[in-house]
Amino acid sequence: MDRAEATIKELRVELSNLRDDLAVIESSEVFAARAIGNQEVVSAIRHRIAELESILRLRHHCMHPGCKSWGSFGFDKRDGVEWYCSTHKGDADD
Ligand SMILES: [Zn+2]
Repeated sequence: MDRAEATIKELRVELSNLRDDLAVIESSEVFAARAIGNQEVVSAIRHRIAELESILRLRHHCMHPGCKSWGSFGFDKRDGVEWYCSTHKGDADD
């Protein structure tokens, strides 16, 4: 039941966490001190972020829990675009 939506939510959480991690790494002084080791971590994080962004762009059914409709209405949010069907587009205001 609703596995696709649960997965998309999980991906969005992962994407949000990765962006936070990246911001912390890039803004920390430790980053400069250990630049070589962190470059690999940063490029792995960037790669995963790009992967998650492309998955989330392609799969945008309505994000309302339990709704199976296609998300025709996109709303720009802090962590990317959220998609809803015409019935649930009010969810974007939450
Ligand atoms: Zn819906």
